[in-house]
Amino acid sequence: MINIAIDGYAGCGKSTLARDVAAKLGFTFIDTGALYRGITLFVTNKLNGIVDDQSVLEVLSQKPTLVFEPLTNHLLLNNINVETQIRSAEIASKVSQVAALPSVRHYLLNIQRDFIQNKGVVMEGRDIGTVIMPDAEAKFFITANMQVRVERRFLQLKADGKEQSRAEVEENLSSRDYKDATRSEAPLKLASDAVVIDTSHLTREEQVKCIIALTASKTDKALLPFV
Ligand code: C5P
Repeated sequence: MINIAIDGYAGCGKSTLARDVAAKLGFTFIDTGALYRGITLFVTNKLNGIVDDQSVLEVLSQKPTLVFEPLTNHLLLNNINVETQIRSAEIASKVSQVAALPSVRHYLLNIQRDFIQNKGVVMEGRDIGTVIMPDAEAKFFITANMQVRVERRFLQLKADGKEQSRAEVEENLSSRDYKDATRSEAPLKLASDAVVIDTSHLTREEQVKCIIALTASKTDKALLPFV
């Protein structure tokens, strides 16, 4: 069995892609962005405004639990389903600031490593190929042009009943990318052995085929029947 790491910019469809690949291969899908969103919900509820490393460290000493519900893959924070809350515009606007804190990254590092004790994982995030699974057998870095990303996220939010203008969506995606790529701890960057895939003009199905075909040719011919 192998592990597959998928990193890339906000709103490139990484979660959908990673979920589809995992479903097709019978692998476990892990959305690490949900963990950062869950911690952001936890710490911002506990702290009134001031979110610095020291105060967050104290809050994290309460050891909040983060688990994915097996069938739905919804995030459970201290056993409560917080899937709706973590997808809110408020959490999206705060998550990159919280994710840049070393206390938060260290806390989630152990949780993420627990998830990958067994092989057969498709894990998606920002530092998966560089920090969390540097030994992953297959690594991908997903990009798409900003216009496509904005449109996809705009339509997704609309379908979920959350109205945001395209300008607001673009501002959130660009500001998160900037914060994620410029932080000192585990910044978003291309792993030297990752394959870059621009999904701007690929359908959902084509993206899945692309990842499985490249993984099969590079690491595990047993995956070829899944292409
Ligand atoms: O993937 P998603 O857009 O839900 O991630 C939300 C935020 O969580 C990112 O913008 C980033 O700040 C943070 N994140 C991270 N490292 C990861 C996954 C997500 O810093 N591995």
